[in-house]
Amino acid sequence: MSSENIEICPICQVKIKDDRTVMFSSGKPGDRTKLWARVCQYVVGKRDGCINQDTDKISAIKPTDSYQPVTFKQE
Ligand SMILES: [Zn+2]
Repeated sequence: MSSENIEICPICQVKIKDDRTVMFSSGKPGDRTKLWARVCQYVVGKRDGCINQDTDKISAIKPTDSYQPVTFKQE
């Protein structure tokens, strides 16, 4: 096998590869900031054990990091 290091957040069930690349269960891989914006910020204070609560590794959340609301265009 390769030497890549994969951690799985026991709370969010998301894989973090090599301590930075986040593999979502669907969609493209992101980073810890995106994971934080989408998932981990909602578990703060509720549960211990989330591996993405290190603010040193999370940068400012960009609008594109959040879930995009699904809209149906009617023209
Ligand atoms: Zn987490």
